[in-house]
Amino acid sequence: MKKTRAILSIVMSLVMMFAILVPAFAEETKCDCGTAPVIQVRGIGETLYDGEGNEIFSAENIVNGILPVVPQLAQFLATGDTEVLVEALSQAVGAIFGPVSYDNNLNRDSVVTVEDYTSDPVETYKDMEDTDTGSESALAQAVYRELGEKHSYLFIYDWTANPFDIAADLNQFVKEVKEKSGHDKVSICAESMGGCMTNTYLALYGYNDVQNVVMANSAFNGLEMIGQLFIGNPQIDGPALGGLIAQSIYGSAEYASLIPYIPLFQDLANIANNLFETAGDRIYEEVLIPVFGYLPSFWCFVPEYHFEEAIDLMLKDAGPDLLAFINDYYEKVASKTTERVQEMVESDDVNYFCVSNYNKFIAPVTETARWNSDGVIETYNTSGFATVADIGETLGADYVQAVNNGKDMVSPDNVVDVSTAQAPMQTWITKNWGHIAYNHNDGTCDFYVWLLTAKEQYTVESNPKYPQFMYYNTEIPLLMPYTCGSGDVTGDGVVSAVDAMLVLKATAGIYCATEEQLMNGDMNCDDALTASDARIIFKKVAGNI
Ligand SMILES: [Zn+2]
Repeated sequence: MKKTRAILSIVMSLVMMFAILVPAFAEETKCDCGTAPVIQVRGIGETLYDGEGNEIFSAENIVNGILPVVPQLAQFLATGDTEVLVEALSQAVGAIFGPVSYDNNLNRDSVVTVEDYTSDPVETYKDMEDTDTGSESALAQAVYRELGEKHSYLFIYDWTANPFDIAADLNQFVKEVKEKSGHDKVSICAESMGGCMTNTYLALYGYNDVQNVVMANSAFNGLEMIGQLFIGNPQIDGPALGGLIAQSIYGSAEYASLIPYIPLFQDLANIANNLFETAGDRIYEEVLIPVFGYLPSFWCFVPEYHFEEAIDLMLKDAGPDLLAFINDYYEKVASKTTERVQEMVESDDVNYFCVSNYNKFIAPVTETARWNSDGVIETYNTSGFATVADIGETLGADYVQAVNNGKDMVSPDNVVDVSTAQAPMQTWITKNWGHIAYNHNDGTCDFYVWLLTAKEQYTVESNPKYPQFMYYNTEIPLLMPYTCGSGDVTGDGVVSAVDAMLVLKATAGIYCATEEQLMNGDMNCDDALTASDARIIFKKVAGNI
């Protein structure tokens, strides 16, 4: 009896030892696939929740913020009394942004949370359908397809929080992903506002844990529009407003020039601009400064060359903690972005890439409304300061490339000169491609996967498929080298069957096929040539019979 108990206790101890040791061994498992896992650091707009789990910016909450001021708005329309309008604005914006607002010294009592994705890889996310398109999810899925399980992650954060806190969370997240995937490094796709947070993370924690950084339509150099608002230059541009509306209808700025000069847009702009003229100071003091000026995360949108003026205007009444934070952020992060980018390009430890798009109108709320953009952020800022003509304009017939670096860095349409950018040889510029618009079938995900899985510091000369200047053909749709309007989609200098097959591949919506399979005619990728393949080809050629 005694002996049995002794054996049992030995067995039990062994079982317990294993229970403790097995996870420890599992954590130690290294992955030998050779490609670092990818983290997408997403942009602004993640759904936020209050302490009770209610969505903060729900349609219902926005309506509830506006409804109470409807009588005041009616009174303004009837009397033109701007005093009444400013009060209504202040009340409505205050109600809507109340749950995320800070006081003038970096304090916030309310609880703000985001969806808890933790550090689970993409394949475990319930809402990540393979069909997700035109969004971050499409790229996450493409990375997952390319690299497999435990190699595709999303980093989600409260976009109203302090960037230093977000960077600390990102650092923790990177460590978790390294452990989960069994890699020493991760690659980061820094999207839109995620570029600010990645930039802050790199400034505070370095890039020892990072293989590739891709700045994707990123605000890491600020957003001119916010900078202009923070230095007191609000202005509604009527024609540009028309252009923006046309662009959203037609999907491209190419047709947008047809609409802007409709008088209605100028009338609307005049009303707003008169309001700024008569009540601008009060709008700043009662709405813009308390709601946006005191929101720490919005300071990462201020371009470093506007900081001083913005602090003077927006932080007149700020407390010492907020001022100290802003100065610290400027010193450590914003003012050193260019230096950091150049250091990464030269470093053997990390690879740096920048993707920037143009030929889209931006929200026309400042005097820089005509700056070229990807629809959300100015090309000047996302490219790290390329020289860019206003939308619809060119750099001029006599324009000479600003920096003579021995390369031709002016776009074929004479709109963008990349020679002035922070990393000219690592900056890709695409016409007509929208802000963070990844799709499964148009080559956009393939391009990003190529960058994110890089094993060396690529340049714009590394791959003829992805030269410095590219063109997003919205008709097919397909991402292609700019100069392949001739039909030379691969950019290898000849129009071949491969080009035809690539176009066919894109139009047929087949993203699983390899070029070889398509060349063989195996359109549905089942490793056999069947009637089904013939039907797909016929359908395409004949136009959807
Ligand atoms: Zn691996």
